Amino acid sequence: MAETSALKQSPHRGPLARGERESSGREAGERRRDAKIVIDDLTLDYVNQETGASHRAVEHLDLRVAGDEFLCVLGPSGCGKSTLLSAIAGFLRPTHGTIVMDGRPITGPGAERGVVFQEYALLPWMTVLDNAALGLKLRGMPKKERYAQARRFLAIANLHGAEHKYPHELSGGMKQRVAVARTLANAPEVMLMDEPFAAVDAQTRMVLQEELCRISLRSRLTVLFITHSVEEAIFLGDRVAVMSPGPGRIRTIVDVPFARDARTWSALNADPAFNAMRDRLLDLVRTPQSQPLEAHA
Ligand code: ADP
Repeated sequence: MAETSALKQSPHRGPLARGERESSGREAGERRRDAKIVIDDLTLDYVNQETGASHRAVEHLDLRVAGDEFLCVLGPSGCGKSTLLSAIAGFLRPTHGTIVMDGRPITGPGAERGVVFQEYALLPWMTVLDNAALGLKLRGMPKKERYAQARRFLAIANLHGAEHKYPHELSGGMKQRVAVARTLANAPEVMLMDEPFAAVDAQTRMVLQEELCRISLRSRLTVLFITHSVEEAIFLGDRVAVMSPGPGRIRTIVDVPFARDARTWSALNADPAFNAMRDRLLDLVRTPQSQPLEAHA
């Protein structure tokens, strides 16, 4: 991914490019009717158990995620993206506000929400097949059945022939494919991905992004994907929710106009609308909310 070229100064300060639509978190309430996840007025504090000191990571955040969408949450480092994802995963309880999935408040982790982290979290003493089947084993699925299911998702993740290898024999890209296959094998309704491709090299990352695009089209999952890369967010998302820091909240939500089944890096890089959208989002990410975009030189 040409991250460096994306950092060039944007000439694009005008209206949104072809097909782009911007809305606030509240306005995205149009999607409330068919929303899978509804987040209302969410505030998340970290409290130091020893000193009692409190740090507010997220405040007054509203967001709706539709049942069949791939939503990218984009923002600078430290703006609260991972904190938000942890709360949706059920690892962190809201200080204030609510997170509701299919009409029920999220009160803890659940198998219907699969999480893929930046670290692959594979068990080094287990083969690829056993790693991919681990969640199914923990749920008590018989061996033959869980291996069949794990094999199916390893194939979807392009890991043919790697079933009997151990994690130390795999490249970073292959390890992350195993982590994605393991999550998909558990048949979650929602996949929560926290910068899953940040640790792999640029070439592999582009391949993994194209694969994830293809896999998400086939599986029709709800995906919430955290990233600080503007290009990654546009490449993968149906919508991009831009977070602003201090404390984190949703600044704006942009619809991505490119057909999902035609998203390849060569196609998008050649499309001026992709470059214009990238520049526009870069401005949003780099300009403090209090400062008008035009004043950002
Ligand atoms: P991002 O994912 O956007 O990089 P994070 O959600 O990791 O941001 O962090 C948001 C804010 O919360 C940051 O100021 C960070 O320092 C703080 N933070 C993250 N984790 C903890 C923690 N366990 N304890 C205290 N503060 C934390």
